[in-house]
Amino acid sequence: PVVTRFAPSPTGFLHIGGARTALFNWLFARHHGGKFLLRIEDTDKVRSTKEAIDAILDGMHWLGLDWDGHEYYQSQFWARHAEVAHKLLERGHAYRCYMTSEELAQQREKAQAERRPFRINSPWRDATDPQGDKPFVIRLKAPRDGETVIEDRVQGRVTVQNAELDDFILLRSDGSPTYMLAVVVDDHDMGVTHVIRGDDHLNNAFRQLAIIRAMGWPEPVYAHVPLIHGPDGAKLSKRHGALGVDAYRDELGMLPEAVDNYLLRLGWGHGDDEIISREQAIEWFDLDHVGKSPSRFDFKKLENLNGHYIREADDGRLADLIAPQLGLADEQKELLVRAMPELKARAHTLHQLGEGAGFLFASRPLDLDEAASGLLTEDARSLLAAAHQALANVDDWSHGGTEQAIRAVADQAGLKLGKLAQPLRAALTGRTTSPGIFDVLVLLGKGESLARIEDQIL
Ligand code: GLU
Repeated sequence: PVVTRFAPSPTGFLHIGGARTALFNWLFARHHGGKFLLRIEDTDKVRSTKEAIDAILDGMHWLGLDWDGHEYYQSQFWARHAEVAHKLLERGHAYRCYMTSEELAQQREKAQAERRPFRINSPWRDATDPQGDKPFVIRLKAPRDGETVIEDRVQGRVTVQNAELDDFILLRSDGSPTYMLAVVVDDHDMGVTHVIRGDDHLNNAFRQLAIIRAMGWPEPVYAHVPLIHGPDGAKLSKRHGALGVDAYRDELGMLPEAVDNYLLRLGWGHGDDEIISREQAIEWFDLDHVGKSPSRFDFKKLENLNGHYIREADDGRLADLIAPQLGLADEQKELLVRAMPELKARAHTLHQLGEGAGFLFASRPLDLDEAASGLLTEDARSLLAAAHQALANVDDWSHGGTEQAIRAVADQAGLKLGKLAQPLRAALTGRTTSPGIFDVLVLLGKGESLARIEDQIL
């Protein structure tokens, strides 16, 4: 059975690259009917924070990435990590290293002076006897000959000369495990079969394999996914979307299904399909179609997808999402829901949606934006006066009823409908864009519509 995991370090927010890693792991597990685990790698007690943990859990919930069982915290398994380090010691795959930091520094300087890469060369590698109570670290006795090959499901065959691997630390002198050891032990103990993560971890994989092989454990399948780059091909910067998932929700006004769909397409493809539902994604997702080259973040695409999902979304749900932004009381939501089919047709973000809805709840006299007030010339105002008169006589306050009245006024003046609709829109909404003018009239109702027009002609 397939077991995947997402293993974030809670030292910052759940950023968009991490969210994609989580999504790929989640989809792969769901596709195979396997398990998806969440392991918070909080071994760095100084840098790990409660806020970061909450942000990760919150972000995962928001994206709909549910994990099987409870979440694990790596720090719970320290004793087990130490136990494995000591097993490696007993079996001769690791050693107690008593080198001092001065000795290490000397080796490093020497390597630098000779212009060769630094590899630790510990005189303790082949020593077996403990040296009393001098402080020591436990290092892996890394293989020195031959090479290590990884058949990566995304990167293909990747090879490293073992001479390039160093005797890295497994257990620090205070008895705490390193990331390298902890990750391997936890993945093994949790039965993780597929390690899907960013390709910034590819180098670690060779070291982790050395531990796995020394323990004689089954090797997981590795899939190292290229990192997300900015639109210019450079490392993803804040300006280009390297933000926390919460910023996509709160600051950018995205729907989670749009972010999920966008992240899915960022590095994985199914032909030319752009809009892929959750169900389709589960059915189709595989590692074969994860691209080998870094994908580029494209805000416009994300916004367009978001616009699509806003149009698809339930009106009541959208109203609930933007009500706080508009400061609405519960009884005002009904109008918002009624207006939603018109409003959502033109919004790419929830903020735009909220902005578009603002006119419904604006208090009189309206604050016209510059473009709108520019439309209200002398001529336009006298047209509005005619429109006011005609509308005042409308009994059937419907789309058809108001249209008939407005068309008659435009005809009388020998104008195209648009010439009248523009100033009317300005007077009714304070803007130059809005839902269709007759929808606006119907949504506002007769009394409010007439009053708003009066405000502009008097
Ligand atoms: N905790 C590591 C990180 O946040 C990931 C470890 C892994 O996926 O193997 O980068």
